[in-house]
Amino acid sequence: MEDCIFCRIGAGEIPADVIYEDKLVIAFKDIKPAAPFHMLLIPREHIASFNELEPRHQELAGHMTLVLKQLAADHAMAEKGYRVIVNCGSEGGQVVYHLHYHLLGGRPLGKLLP
Ligand code: 5GP
Ligand code: ZN
Repeated sequence: MEDCIFCRIGAGEIPADVIYEDKLVIAFKDIKPAAPFHMLLIPREHIASFNELEPRHQELAGHMTLVLKQLAADHAMAEKGYRVIVNCGSEGGQVVYHLHYHLLGGRPLGKLLP
């Protein structure tokens, strides 16, 4: 997906403040942080959204969950807390169509739901 901005970040073609990477995923700082810690975790594989996750992604999906937990711990958020967000589709507020998890923390985030 050469026109996908997150594929290009994954390929190192567009610079990003990379926090973590391995053979399956990359985490980098959001360009427009909504909290003191605002990271994005993406798969290296182009998966357009949460809707496109398939059974063959089981290992990747589990890995991403555990990487999020580790990133939160590594950035001293485990005790105070943090938030993981996936926006999916237009009503979900998704802007970039390459699956990504937002990891936010470093301040009280308030309640999202009543
Ligand atoms: P979405 O609304 O699709 O869930 O979130 C997309 C996120 O990607 C936004 O928080 C936005 O600030 C971030 N973003 C968009 N383009 C870039 C970029 O080129 N670099 C980085 N680091 N973040 C980006
Ligand atoms: Zn992509």
